Amino acid sequence: MIATSFEYVRAATITEAIELLKNNDGEGKLIAGGHSLVPLMKFHLTTPTTLIDISRINELKGVKKDGKRIVIGAATTYADVINDETIAKHLPVLKDAIKQIGDMQIRNKGTIGGNIAHADPSADLPAIALALDAIVHLNGENGEEQVAIQEFLLGPFMTNLPATSIITSISFVIPQGEGKSTYIKFPHPASGYAVVGVCAVASKKEDGTVDNVRIGITGAGESAFRAESVERFLLGKEATLENISNAASLAASDGEMGEDLFASRKYREALCKVYTERALKQVLS
Ligand SMILES: Cc1cc2nc3c(=O)[nH]c(=O)nc-3n(C[C@H](O)[C@H](O)[C@H](O)COP(=O)(O)OP(=O)(O)OC[C@H]3O[C@@H](n4cnc5c(N)ncnc54)[C@H](O)[C@@H]3O)c2cc1C
Repeated sequence: MIATSFEYVRAATITEAIELLKNNDGEGKLIAGGHSLVPLMKFHLTTPTTLIDISRINELKGVKKDGKRIVIGAATTYADVINDETIAKHLPVLKDAIKQIGDMQIRNKGTIGGNIAHADPSADLPAIALALDAIVHLNGENGEEQVAIQEFLLGPFMTNLPATSIITSISFVIPQGEGKSTYIKFPHPASGYAVVGVCAVASKKEDGTVDNVRIGITGAGESAFRAESVERFLLGKEATLENISNAASLAASDGEMGEDLFASRKYREALCKVYTERALKQVLS
């Protein structure tokens, strides 16, 4: 299908992008990589009167270390994240996860901010964002704001993003000390999106007991979720195969399982257990 007609403007700065959003009475839409927005426009699922292109705003791009966090500009492309040395050193899990997104064309255009703003329940990044306590940095309607990822993601394709605000960056906690991290997914065979994707970050003390564990799960539910029951079960316990397996059995209990022609609720529940167990074995072995 062909999208309905629209105006196109390119913003040069964050301030200009916000002004353009305000001037369009909520009918304008930001476009970054366009890989999620344009398909929606073609199906007439969204019909913005104006597209505000933010893909060339330099202040929205780049990666920097800020204390215990890595801050990534919202318009930074996946390809730029994959090739960034700071990411390779401090957040290799993000690099590994992004390598599993789409194909080279998608990774050359798609952006970190677009992925989080779109809030696709099968997208990969929300799982990593949840496991790494991401903070979404906004500017616009309420001035500059910081929203924890758990409060930002409200449901399938729904977020806490005010209509005339823009995501400026997303920051992720660097796993501390001996902390290991991984992201593994069961990709849909046709689309490559996550049927279930699990990000695990964990560390254990010298005596083998788990002293930190965070699990983010995407794809399985109506929205990505933190598997806090798994975390509570493991914390303070020895990282034995039996404890890991028992903890992983709880993985589906924190999310509202989704269902479609490809995978039933039961199947997604089973995948949550299997992939959480695999991820935990990788980070706690
Ligand atoms: C064939 C194909 C395969 C894909 N496979 C995967 C996959 O395996 N895993 C995966 O996670 N994703 C996948 N994607 C989605 C892809 O990662 C998208 O690029 C991404 O989800 C959206 O990023 P974008 O920069 O293209 O955003 P756009 O399409 O430009 O925008 C998406 C939404 O976010 C809003 N937005 C964009 N930037 C901002 C900002 N800074 N502030 C506020 N709002 C903003 C837009 O207004 C729009 O509503 C795939 C897409 C395609 C077409």
